[in-house]
Amino acid sequence: MELEQLYRSTVDVWGEQAQYDQAVEECAELIAALMHYRREKVDAQQVIDELADVTLMLGQLTWMFGKERVEEAVQRKRIKLDDLMERENAQGAKKL
Ligand SMILES: [Mg+2]
Repeated sequence: MELEQLYRSTVDVWGEQAQYDQAVEECAELIAALMHYRREKVDAQQVIDELADVTLMLGQLTWMFGKERVEEAVQRKRIKLDDLMERENAQGAKKL
């Protein structure tokens, strides 16, 4: 099954609200895995598995809210981050 077809199918079967809830739950699981990884209670594979869940949910939400709108927002945020890094690097160069 193509990813978009899969996203459409989950909304048809479980509904929009369930997908928002699932996204929140998967993010929380990734947060917990990262905290446990820091304390060496889980291995990298467990973090990667949670990352995979969140990646799928981000794909799901991106499809639901509109890929073009999300891509436009990512581009806008990326430009802001680029500017911030340039300023940080310029400040770091001044200190040397
Ligand atoms: Mg998970």
